[in-house]
Amino acid sequence: MPAKLQWVSVADEVVHVSQFASLKPKQRPRASCPVCGDQVIMKLGAKNAHHCAHKPDAVCAATSGETAVHLNSKLYIARKLEKEITRAQQDGDLPRLVIKELCGYKGGYYEKTCTEERSTVWAVGFDEVAVEVRVGNRQPDITLRHNGMDMAGIEVHVTNAVSDEKAADLELLGLPWIEVKGKPELYEGDWPWNSLQTLKVTRTGEGRWRCATCAAKEAEAAARKAEEARLEQERAEQAALWEKQKEHERNNGWHNRLCRVVDFYYSSGKKFRDMYQVQHLLDDGQEVGLRLQCVSQKVALLVLDDGDRDPMLRIAACFRSDINRQRAVIVDDSMKWSEPLDWDLLDARPDLDPMNPMTAHFGYRWDKYANKWRKRWR
Ligand SMILES: [Zn+2]
Ligand SMILES: [Zn+2]
Repeated sequence: MPAKLQWVSVADEVVHVSQFASLKPKQRPRASCPVCGDQVIMKLGAKNAHHCAHKPDAVCAATSGETAVHLNSKLYIARKLEKEITRAQQDGDLPRLVIKELCGYKGGYYEKTCTEERSTVWAVGFDEVAVEVRVGNRQPDITLRHNGMDMAGIEVHVTNAVSDEKAADLELLGLPWIEVKGKPELYEGDWPWNSLQTLKVTRTGEGRWRCATCAAKEAEAAARKAEEARLEQERAEQAALWEKQKEHERNNGWHNRLCRVVDFYYSSGKKFRDMYQVQHLLDDGQEVGLRLQCVSQKVALLVLDDGDRDPMLRIAACFRSDINRQRAVIVDDSMKWSEPLDWDLLDARPDLDPMNPMTAHFGYRWDKYANKWRKRWR
């Protein structure tokens, strides 16, 4: 049977239905639902737990089992805490609420759930228990007061735990609070809760308690995570620095602007492949000089600064005269000046390297019988 509401409003007071169990049905007072105000019938038989029933067509949240459990738990705890005030007065004592917390550490998947628990005297000296009264912009399920001042809040949750927003608001109000799981075992059955026992809470305004062992484990994990974050940050900074340095190198110093492969064939039957490079000198990305050099020669063939006129013509002339100086019988410079090679790309695709004779074939072959170079036809 789904949970039923056990509290009714009689003469403007919310009371538990059981207190009318000794009365014959006709003697029982008129009772209404504390939520919707509709008249309800008290069901006080021996078979089921005492409860009240709405009319069959009633539209009221309290007819849902979860809402009924919430209301029953909340009103039950409030009533027991009121009784605690009376008890304390009789015993010349201070009313108190002792809570029990389970260690809230969530370990790894294979870790055993921690079973440590602790009991704390949480609220002492309250003299009023208020149900659903406003505290600031919030309305805790139960508010404990002392001399008319709100001193602590109790939230009962059945389906919805206290939201982060509500927790933040209560924190802002400076109201200590606990969250209690609402369930029938709390208020009925063989061992219903009373204020002389500890009240098991799922969390408090200070979060979920951790036992010393688990707190140490958690601190260790947090430190590990922080260290990882620090290393990650360091790596990112290093990478940024590197990128900046590369950027600087790209924009400064000598860089290839054009390249040209030239093959030389000699009367001896020897052949030789060389590469000429036009390089420009960059200063913060600005071209401030040019030079012609040849991969096989150690020194630049021509160096120009940005004041020199007709630089490209002078480079072309220097290139031509250097080729002639080689005294080859055939000079194959049919390959044009081209964009500089991307060395990173050539690492992956050596077949694109124009200097690689395995893939970029020589255009002539030596005919050793005729002692002359012959064009290779392809
Ligand atoms: Zn109702
Ligand atoms: Zn623990």
